[in-house]
Amino acid sequence: MTFAELANPGILTQPVYEAGKPIDQVARELGLDPAGIIKLASNENPFGPSPKALAAAERALREAHLYPDGGYYALRHKLAEKWSLGMDQFIIGDGSNEIIELLGHAFLAPGRECVMFQSSFVVYKLVTIMFGATTVEVPLTDMRQDLKALAAAVTPRTRLVFLASPANPVGASNTGAEIVELVRALPPHAILVFDEAYAEYVENAPDLRPLIAEGRKVICLRTFSKVYGLASLRVGYGYGAAELIAIVQRARQPFNVNAIAVAAAVAALDDHEFVAKCLRENRAGLAQLEAGLTKLGVGFVPGTGNFLLAKVGDGTRVFGGLQQRGIITRPVKPYGLPEWLRLTVGTHAQNERLLGALAEVLRG
Ligand SMILES: *Cc1c(COP(=O)(O)O)cnc(C)c1O
Repeated sequence: MTFAELANPGILTQPVYEAGKPIDQVARELGLDPAGIIKLASNENPFGPSPKALAAAERALREAHLYPDGGYYALRHKLAEKWSLGMDQFIIGDGSNEIIELLGHAFLAPGRECVMFQSSFVVYKLVTIMFGATTVEVPLTDMRQDLKALAAAVTPRTRLVFLASPANPVGASNTGAEIVELVRALPPHAILVFDEAYAEYVENAPDLRPLIAEGRKVICLRTFSKVYGLASLRVGYGYGAAELIAIVQRARQPFNVNAIAVAAAVAALDDHEFVAKCLRENRAGLAQLEAGLTKLGVGFVPGTGNFLLAKVGDGTRVFGGLQQRGIITRPVKPYGLPEWLRLTVGTHAQNERLLGALAEVLRG
């Protein structure tokens, strides 16, 4: 018998996540100097980690021989204060991606459905398929997310409804009023998974805590990978009703997040100066990219996060051309968007370099 014959049903056809290409890999493949390559492919923070987080991580490293506090008291305590919620309303994940998987363990099985938009964050679909549940995809409307259409796709079999605002990779956002209306329209057997990965970048981002307080079925997901600059450490969190969180906690490994990452996350929450700087620079960078793209005659979805979706024509060709010039971006053909590229907002200098290279590639 082969290993393939021994494998569980479904695992051989499970789609594989395609990440943004690492700098070292591009350097190897193209024979380029890694020092000259910039990565604007994965919506990482171009200003690095928060310095306070870095110092805390270095201190925590000296305790590397001890298991982490598997209850993550310090981080949940800090989050409870920040959001004026109970500590029992928070779950800490190995990135918010892990919490999506934990929701699958808790709520998905064959015969159950997950509703999401087409071209939404691919992890929603990967987790749905992994648990043998069925993906129900709702088309976008002119690159916008019509939440009435999302609600209309819910059936008696729906368990999870995935929504991100701003959405990745599309960049579209929804208003708080639209989301409240969606949640009120959901039947009691459907849970909204509201992915707030880019919420820090948005002024007046929707606040779903009142919906949680009134007992609506919602879980919100946040990450330290974006504005806090800790993508490599893998920390995220979810918050919702204590009863819901207690169920999801059962699916979690006892020490799912390492103590270095958690120490960094706790310190990052206090580094208001760093976050303010990143938000300021990001806003300026978005404006810079939008102006540059407009000048090049390249269409884009106006962004509110730290990235833009740009309509470059042949996404694969332009991606390749930029990569030859040492700039890694993200082709979104696997998301059904072959004419588009996702561009992460970099530093001022990186954005200039991107726009210059893009002008060359589009001319060529
Ligand atoms: C980046 C991102 C996340 C965060 O993933 P982590 O696992 O926390 O690094 C979640 N959702 C979306 C839509 C994202 O773009």
